[in-house]
Amino acid sequence: MSNQQDKLATQIVSVGREKKYSQGIINPPVYRASTVVFDTMDDMRFAIKNKTNGEMFYGRRGTPTHFSFQQAISELEGGAGTALYPSGAGAISAALLSFLKSGDHLLMVDSAYEPTRDLCNKLLAGFGIETTYYDPLIGEGIKDLIQPNTKVLFLESPGSITMEIQDVPTLSRIAHEHDVVVMLDNTWASPINSRPFEMGVDISIQAATKYIVGHSDVMMGTATANEAHWEQLRENSYIMGQTTSPDDVYLAARGLRTLGVRMAQHDKNALKVANWLASRPEVDHLRHPAFETCPGHEFYQRDFSGGNGLFSFVLKQGNLASVTAFVENMRHFKMGFSWGGYESLILGVFGIDRLRTATTWDTSKPLIRLHIGLEDPDDLIADLTEAFERFNAVIDK
Ligand SMILES: *Cc1c(COP(=O)(O)O)cnc(C)c1O
Repeated sequence: MSNQQDKLATQIVSVGREKKYSQGIINPPVYRASTVVFDTMDDMRFAIKNKTNGEMFYGRRGTPTHFSFQQAISELEGGAGTALYPSGAGAISAALLSFLKSGDHLLMVDSAYEPTRDLCNKLLAGFGIETTYYDPLIGEGIKDLIQPNTKVLFLESPGSITMEIQDVPTLSRIAHEHDVVVMLDNTWASPINSRPFEMGVDISIQAATKYIVGHSDVMMGTATANEAHWEQLRENSYIMGQTTSPDDVYLAARGLRTLGVRMAQHDKNALKVANWLASRPEVDHLRHPAFETCPGHEFYQRDFSGGNGLFSFVLKQGNLASVTAFVENMRHFKMGFSWGGYESLILGVFGIDRLRTATTWDTSKPLIRLHIGLEDPDDLIADLTEAFERFNAVIDK
């Protein structure tokens, strides 16, 4: 049982561990279920009606494994209720589809995760839902983009790849003046490094696949809503048949218990590597929220209580050949998508300009994204030192 007075590290350990879910076992066990049986008509009617009180009704509505994890995420994010989804992308699409209908208008941040943009441009457009992309740093200017049919303002902060940090309280305030629902992809902060609901967000979304799971072995998404939006999110997600395996939820809940110490170590390691990168002559600037060169850095300082292992850096020059020489043949960094696991990852990212329509991106300077894992950062710096040697050998040719 968590207590609002408890410090965060204590809350991470205790949230969602009520005896009704765990039967006293430390980790609430895996309950696999489709059918749930009832003794009486009264019992059945009670279960049908009690949709959000952790009552068993049918597997799709969840089991104590799910209820425990949902409660844990709700308490950490600071919302009224949490729905679970088979991936982060599933959480984003279900949240948007739960609040948008044909003829509505959506304001989407230009630095959104690529599949979020695809959802807007391909699926939502086909449903007659219009999207306008906006500059992540628009601030007060968002009011000029709100139309009478604008229903949702979607934020992602920091933005994907380019890492712009948004002024969430200002954007939320203006949206609410126009009855617009505010959704935030809060994956980078995780449920512990920002207070989305205190900043006016109505629905906070996590790709739990990343730091909550933390071990690169489960896909999962969460969407947490405040009291005013919980029922609509819950009901519509249920109607869309969104469900998650209790085995996966068990792993996500297990990962959650070490989120605090992992995040702190990722943050510390990443800052060491980022500071070293900032001193390299080949580096133009860091896109790490803790650095002044990251657009919106002041909002990071104001609104976040810590960072993690994910950031990007921009090189002064380079092309496909030199960046390929950099990222291939690393000892510790592996090439691959996603992030938030215990291991380091590297990506040379090309074509960012194609993913930006409200802002521009200078493609003459290549960008490399790093996820700094839990290895010793000195070994990662040695790996990157060799990468710069390979890079310079190609540049000098
Ligand atoms: C990875 C990611 C997602 C999607 O999560 P999946 O579980 O991979 O579907 C959504 N938003 C952000 C910011 C992400 O990094």
